[in-house]
Amino acid sequence: MNTPSKPERIIIFDTTLRDGEQSPGATLNVDEKLTIARQLARLGVDVIEAGFPFASPGDFEAVQKIAAQVGTPDGPTICGLARATKQDIETAAKALSPAAKPRIHTFIATSDIHLEYKLRKSRQEVLEIAPEMVAYAKSFVDDVEFSPEDAGRSDPEFLYQVLERAIAAGATTINIPDTVGYLTPSEFGALIKGIKDNVPNIDQAIISVHGHNDLGLAVANFLEAVKNGARQLECTINGIGERAGNAALEELVMAMHVRRQFYNPFLGRPVDSEEPLTNIDTHQIYKTSRLVSSLTGMLVQPNKAIVGANAFAHESGIHQDGVLKHKLTYEIMDAQSIGLTDNQIVLGKHSGRNAFRTRLKELGYELADQELNRAFLRFKELADKKKEVTDWDLEAIVNDEAQQVPELFRLEHVHVSCGDHARPTATVILRTPDGEELTDAAIGTGPVDAVYKAINRVVDIPNQLIEFSVQSVTAGIDAIGEVTIRLKHGDHIFSGHGANTDIIVASAQAYMNALNRLYASLQTGRSLHPQHDEVASVGG
Ligand SMILES: [Zn+2]
Repeated sequence: MNTPSKPERIIIFDTTLRDGEQSPGATLNVDEKLTIARQLARLGVDVIEAGFPFASPGDFEAVQKIAAQVGTPDGPTICGLARATKQDIETAAKALSPAAKPRIHTFIATSDIHLEYKLRKSRQEVLEIAPEMVAYAKSFVDDVEFSPEDAGRSDPEFLYQVLERAIAAGATTINIPDTVGYLTPSEFGALIKGIKDNVPNIDQAIISVHGHNDLGLAVANFLEAVKNGARQLECTINGIGERAGNAALEELVMAMHVRRQFYNPFLGRPVDSEEPLTNIDTHQIYKTSRLVSSLTGMLVQPNKAIVGANAFAHESGIHQDGVLKHKLTYEIMDAQSIGLTDNQIVLGKHSGRNAFRTRLKELGYELADQELNRAFLRFKELADKKKEVTDWDLEAIVNDEAQQVPELFRLEHVHVSCGDHARPTATVILRTPDGEELTDAAIGTGPVDAVYKAINRVVDIPNQLIEFSVQSVTAGIDAIGEVTIRLKHGDHIFSGHGANTDIIVASAQAYMNALNRLYASLQTGRSLHPQHDEVASVGG
């Protein structure tokens, strides 16, 4: 075996903005997608799947903006999804055109169950369409990825034929999806090995994997695929995605980081090689996780591997004692390696604009002047209430600013009175989109309920609150409370976010944030994801 001159690495393909965004209620607007894409670039992902341009004008615009602003020559490859049709591929090519390194990802199903019930096409037809559409995509870009959807349940012999033809037509990456999250690790490993052994021109393409977590096996399946020759992993931050989600980026990356001696030989390296297995800057993991969680409104469970609130906490006395004596007694990795550093006290009441801007820059945030002004005002307000403003507080402020939708309705004032012998009563003053100031009041079962009822009396758009959560950004009684809510209107779910040291105010802001999103979608009158039903189970 000849050793490659440059060490081989695992390509990290992030689909948070495409597959992840298909999670119920995770809908992001264009600015939020750009914010996430910039952070993914800082994290060091090799490929960003930015969306499905044909799905909606909003998807198209997001892919185009990410291609222009994040897809720079030294930035990641920007990928757009397209079904195996000319129209989809043309639209993807157009949206991706500003990117320095554009990739079209096209897919067609290969399992009999999909062919018969969804696609209504014969195997022979698929054998012709796949190479034809790969070649068509190739006429726009050099970098073409092809996915046989539902590969996990496809007849292997047929799958080999489709892949051979797709590679011959110019596909440089072939992606093997376990679309329904059905396979076990050894089966998935065998599937990849079968492809490596039976597709004659497989050396001309990179083998990629995509999978869902219906049985909680996505990460385990991918790691088995790596052992059998897969070199690209399609994953999402916090594992968000369709149904039970995708394979979690942070788990894959840290498994290969912590256990690199185990994985090194499968990449043809000496066991003790310290060469990283991926291009990911692990120190950016925690920050990326928090950003995606707060922008999508999809909270991270406390016991989630790597990024959960408890992932590095030790409760039991025996463990605490052990860790104090020597960290590695109960810890297999260092919290610092994912960027979970202790709260650094960086700024206070007397810190000026320059210190504020400089620290934000160090944290990776570059704000336009107007955004900076707004964020600085909020920082000053916070510094008045809270002596020590930490990095996490700053991130909460900036992320909160980043996800403010146009304020069609604006909260001017909120007042609540409550107590153990009082009926919680709220008064609100709102400014309507026409500039009119309206006041109303309501009684509720608790202070937040009272505020929401008072707001409802003014805004008057029927909706159902389906999730409400408060998290504190840092420890201590003066911590910022971050409120994340999700509400339902018809079939659509809208998330809202608010951050304030007063959790009632944060709750009111989060509600206004979600209502403004809902109101904006009613104004534009277009469905947010007109075609997502059709691509709900996209393997690509
Ligand atoms: Zn998927």
